[in-house]
Amino acid sequence: MKKLVAIICAAVITLMLSCACAERDLPEGSYKEKGKGTVYIATENGASSRRKAPLICPEDDRETIGLSAWDFDGNALSFIYVDGMLLESMRLENTYASLTLQGVQLADGFHTIEVVQYTNDDPSGEMITYRQMEYQVGENTPYIGNKNTRKLHEASCSSVEDMKDRNKVGFATKEEALEDGYETCQRCNP
Ligand SMILES: [Zn+2]
Repeated sequence: MKKLVAIICAAVITLMLSCACAERDLPEGSYKEKGKGTVYIATENGASSRRKAPLICPEDDRETIGLSAWDFDGNALSFIYVDGMLLESMRLENTYASLTLQGVQLADGFHTIEVVQYTNDDPSGEMITYRQMEYQVGENTPYIGNKNTRKLHEASCSSVEDMKDRNKVGFATKEEALEDGYETCQRCNP
């Protein structure tokens, strides 16, 4: 009987924990870009744009990235979310700020940053500004393969710049890529 109670307790606690984890500050949804102003994030490896998710190669358990804003409405608070969780809120206008990322925010893979302004600075209210960008956490690898074309490039090849981040796959060695069936690029000849 005691064992059964323990199992039920464990199940309830697990359920509560999983609910807490799944909860986002910014509800999941397909929000459209709106409002005025420009914002982007920058890491040591570049800046975000419509197609680019700059890379972070964590050397520490905390990493600082830059956030630049132009022409934002400084009368409204800007709420900054990482993967749907509120990181901080600040007044952005023509502003350069820094954001500190840590924990799950530095897990390998793609992450989303959303900058949102609301009517009366009330996050339960209507959005007046919405911007979304991405960053990527991973290793800085010397070779980059294109998942679509199956071509392998030097990381510095001009073809890599034109490549969508989602099509990129990093390799530490050329041999690894060739074993995976990648063919070398004619331009950079890795
Ligand atoms: Zn190339």
